[in-house]
Amino acid sequence: MALRIDVLTLFPEMFAPILGTSIPKRAAEKGLVEYHLTNIRDFATDNHKSVDDKPFGGGPGMVMMCQVVYDAVRDVEARDPRPARRIILSPQGVPLDQKIVEQLSQEQRLLLIAGHYEGFDERIIEGLKPMEISIGDYVLSGGELAAMVLIDAVVRLLPGALGAEDGAADETFADGLLEFPQYTRPREFEGMKVPDVLLSGDHKKIAQWRLQQRMLRTQERRPDLWQKYLQEHPDALNEKKKKRRRPPIEFEI
Ligand code: SAM
Repeated sequence: MALRIDVLTLFPEMFAPILGTSIPKRAAEKGLVEYHLTNIRDFATDNHKSVDDKPFGGGPGMVMMCQVVYDAVRDVEARDPRPARRIILSPQGVPLDQKIVEQLSQEQRLLLIAGHYEGFDERIIEGLKPMEISIGDYVLSGGELAAMVLIDAVVRLLPGALGAEDGAADETFADGLLEFPQYTRPREFEGMKVPDVLLSGDHKKIAQWRLQQRMLRTQERRPDLWQKYLQEHPDALNEKKKKRRRPPIEFEI
């Protein structure tokens, strides 16, 4: 059965270009996922269609009100008997990583709640008990982009979403390592050559080289991930020693 993703947002129109393009679109066409967008404002009950109000205690901005969000969640959840995993996008949430993405891709139903303005009345978190997820240590204007990041990452893991030619197995983070360097034609470009091993046709050697490159890259670029990997793969250092170390890669920002 298709994964059902409900999104509660004040700006449903923001989603069409992303969910209607590339892999999120193809996955829906293949029946792997269904997207249901609901405008939180539809649940406002006053003449002004208010969804937020000033914070108690003073301060700038507006806070999303409880009633409208509770009503929207209850209404949307009743549209399908499958229980939904409730998620609020928030800069204060647990940082999204590939492990969480994998777990979410196994759910039957996700309910994403995107905030705006100053965020949510705390009783929305307290009473609805959603998982709070952040996409990084910076503050966005709203949760819509964060919800789309999450959806894209989850949907590409659904079995059948990616063609065999661009599978997720060796990708960055798939097993705690970054991906190996990739090359395509031509064999030489402005004096830079494709490593000989990739042209050798020796699949065992290629696989070994790629694993070593993944380990080198991870160590150089993400020491935090490398330490975790070493804990889980104590033999990794022996594998890495088989290959001479390349100089660290420099980044330009
Ligand atoms: N006042 C809040 C705070 O300081 O924690 C920030 C509110 S932010 C301006 C408005 C909304 O954007 C949030 O309710 C959340 O849904 C979304 N948002 C902002 N940054 C985010 C992030 N890094 N990850 C996920 N959602 C984020």
